[in-house]
Amino acid sequence: MRRMTLTGDQHLVKRINRMALVRLLREEPGLSRADLSTHSGLTKSTISILAKELIDEGWLLEEEAQHTGSLGRRPKPLRLNSQRLALIGAELGIDAIQTAAVTINGEVIESQRTPLRSLEPQQACHQLIAQVLSLAAEVKERHYRLMGIGVGLPGAVDERAGVLKFAPNIGWRDVELGKRLSGEAAAAGLDVPIYYQNEADLAAIGEFEFGEGPADDPLIFLSCGIGVGAGIVLNDRLFSGASGLAGEIGHTILQMGGPMCSCGRRGCAEALIGARHIATPEDAARAGAYLGVLIQNVWMTFNPTVIVLGGETVERGAEFLDPALSAVQQFAAEAGIAPPQIRIARYGSLATAVGGAAYVLHCMLRPIYG
Ligand SMILES: [Zn+2]
Repeated sequence: MRRMTLTGDQHLVKRINRMALVRLLREEPGLSRADLSTHSGLTKSTISILAKELIDEGWLLEEEAQHTGSLGRRPKPLRLNSQRLALIGAELGIDAIQTAAVTINGEVIESQRTPLRSLEPQQACHQLIAQVLSLAAEVKERHYRLMGIGVGLPGAVDERAGVLKFAPNIGWRDVELGKRLSGEAAAAGLDVPIYYQNEADLAAIGEFEFGEGPADDPLIFLSCGIGVGAGIVLNDRLFSGASGLAGEIGHTILQMGGPMCSCGRRGCAEALIGARHIATPEDAARAGAYLGVLIQNVWMTFNPTVIVLGGETVERGAEFLDPALSAVQQFAAEAGIAPPQIRIARYGSLATAVGGAAYVLHCMLRPIYG
C-alpha cells in the first residue's frame, strides 16, 4: 500500500468531512453510507473509511439492516452513538455551581448542583474544578470518553483569553478564570479542551444544538434570573460582539431615572426584571410587562425565528409570563406583524450547564472555526 503524507490542509479537510457526516446524521438519523455519499458528494470509498473511523471512535453506530425481502447487500442505517462519548458543561452561577454530563445526542447522563461556597475567585474556581473532576470520574466509570468541557460564567467573557471581564452581580472584573481553571484541571490530569463563555450564550447554544428538528436561526435565549442577559445565535454561530459584551441586555435602559441597578446606573432591564427586584406577585406582573418590552426590543433588533425564555424567574410561571406575552401580542397587533415563536427553555435550570456541553460539540462540529 502506498503511503501518503498528509499536509496540514489535508488534515483539516478530513476533519471537515468527518464532521460533515456527523452533522448529516444529526439532521437525518438512519442514513446509509450510500445516502451519505449522495448527500455529501464524497466518494463511497471515502465514506467507508470515515464511517469506520467514526464508528471505532464512538461517534456513530451501525444498526442491523432492515429486512426488505430483496436479495443482495442491504444498506445499514447509521446513527449517532449515545453510549461512548460524553461532554461536560459547568455553570459558575451567582449562588451555585451546576454541572452536567451530556451525550452527543443531548441526553443528560448525570448532573450535580452545589451552593457556591465563596465569591473569592480562587476558591470559586477550585470548587468548580473539583465538581467537574468528580463528574468526569463518574463518566469514565460508566465507560464514556470525555471530549471537552464548556464553562458558563455570569457576565461578559473574553472567550479567547478565558477572562471574565465584567460581572457586576458578583463584583468581579477582569478575572483570569481560564488560566486558573485550566491550570487546576491540568494539575489533576484532565487533558481535554476547556471552553469559556457567558452563561446565556451557552444556554442559547444548548437550545440550538440539542433542539428538535432543524435548528432555529437566528435564535435568542433570554435568561431571567438575578442577572438578565441574552445569548444570540446568528448564521450558525454565537454572536458575542467585539469584546464579549453583545447580549448584555440586562444593562440596556428601559426606564430613564428608574430604580438603581447593580452596574451603578438607573433603570436598566435588570433593575426592573431581575430576581432581586421581585418579591410579590404584583412585582412579578410588573416585571413581566417589562420583560414584554425587552422581548419586543430583541425581536426588532434581531428578527429571530425563536426567542427562548429561561432562568429562575421563568419558573414563577403565569404571574411573570402572562403579562410579558400579552405585551408582545399587543405590540404585534399594533404593528400588524407576527411575533417570533416564544418558548420556555428545554433543559430548565440545567440550560447553561447543558449548553456548556453543547458548546464543546458545537466547536467540534465546525473545525473551520477552531
Ligand atoms: Zn445595569
